[in-house]
Amino acid sequence: MTLERQLGVGGEFAAAYVVAHEVAHHVQNELGILGQANRIRQQVSERESNAISVRLELQADCLSGIWARYAQERFNSLERGDIAEAMNAAAQIGDDTLQRNAGRSVQPHTFQHGTSAQRQRWFQTGYETAQIAFCDTFSTDNL
Ligand SMILES: [Zn+2]
Repeated sequence: MTLERQLGVGGEFAAAYVVAHEVAHHVQNELGILGQANRIRQQVSERESNAISVRLELQADCLSGIWARYAQERFNSLERGDIAEAMNAAAQIGDDTLQRNAGRSVQPHTFQHGTSAQRQRWFQTGYETAQIAFCDTFSTDNL
């Protein structure tokens, strides 16, 4: 699996977080958020388009956090260390970390997913609040 081999992201729950992130994009699609964001992205500069992409991705991370919380509350399915595993995964797939690990200089205007710290923070926000209203990455000045 690419996650483990290339990114050094190990563990079942790390994989679950990545799947939950993809499901979150489906939720964004159902809510009309994805369509609206992509329409705007086609009309703005590449830099602005990337910035919108970051907000979409961080929202998906937040929704993944909500999923993790419910997986625990309703099914008691988390094991010790699972949240730390997801946080590690979020850190490994932050744009700044990926660029640094690829030997490139870190260029924030090219980010499409957000920094490691941002990805961790939004996952944690979802996990701690368990409310979709707190995952509004589009109306905050503090990503
Ligand atoms: Zn994504």
